[in-house]
Amino acid sequence: MALVAAAGVLVMTVGACTSVDPPPTGAQAASAAPTVSATGERTTTATGTTTPGATATGTTTPGATATASPTGTASPSSPTPGTAPSTTPVPPAPASACPAPSPTVITQAPGPGRTVALTFDDGASADMLAIAQVLRAQSVRAATFFDTGAKDAQSPQAVTDVSAMGFLIGNHTWDHQYPKAVRGGWSLPYLSDQISRTAAQTLRLTGAGECFFRPPGGVQDNVLAAAAAQGMSVVMWSVDTSDWQSPPRLDPAFQQRIITRATTLPAAGADHPIVLMHSAKASHEPEQQVSSFRGNTVAALPSIIAWYRSHGYQFVDVAGRS
Ligand SMILES: [Zn+2]
Repeated sequence: MALVAAAGVLVMTVGACTSVDPPPTGAQAASAAPTVSATGERTTTATGTTTPGATATGTTTPGATATASPTGTASPSSPTPGTAPSTTPVPPAPASACPAPSPTVITQAPGPGRTVALTFDDGASADMLAIAQVLRAQSVRAATFFDTGAKDAQSPQAVTDVSAMGFLIGNHTWDHQYPKAVRGGWSLPYLSDQISRTAAQTLRLTGAGECFFRPPGGVQDNVLAAAAAQGMSVVMWSVDTSDWQSPPRLDPAFQQRIITRATTLPAAGADHPIVLMHSAKASHEPEQQVSSFRGNTVAALPSIIAWYRSHGYQFVDVAGRS
């Protein structure tokens, strides 16, 4: 198993831990020493070893070409322990609703000019709704939430509401388990089951299928193949806010740190960042290691939006809608 794709991958950023979502590839450098330069244009190098799809996928429009791939093939194989969705299985997104899966991991926001994709991982919560409301209040019409099935099962109405507000729901597995916590690791059957169960639930809750998958922790084992088999592209990020390091309370200094990280762009792909934030905590570390408090993320958001807007960026979701 474990065909660890392309790059450095399994990396944990900031020494801290088996963190929530460490940056892809060599991009951990990017979060190492963030400082916004005058223009905010650049600072660190995100060696995007896994490179985009960017322009390739960038230009794909959802619904446009849809020749690729399987329809309801994702048969949940090997039952996994843990939460089992109760209702009848529904096939994942019809392939015709998705662009052809990108052959490489996507690390840049799609679209012409300057575009930024704000992304929020881990699933439904009261904070997910709060984030969506801030986005709407700031007239940001496009953003992406990569949800876990387990979180969404706990707060299904939030998913329905956020989707109805026009935001895109992507797939982030059901359980958010890293390979080392899974017997046999992330085998294709395991991932297939995780992805398809989550996609089926999202379809029930929102009426829309899922076309984009983000692996927990940015781990790459088998993910391109597993996602493509269900007609999905794999999306990572190029800017990591590490908002999961939050203290368990509102903290202006930490909010500023989120803002600084969110607006410190990698040299490569500075015109098309994908920014990683969190709407919940679905990973399994102790609270002192990975915080579930998202108040600082919510509070930082208006400044992040203002910065990108003032620098000429258009807000897009990972499907390229704006
Ligand atoms: Zn995650």
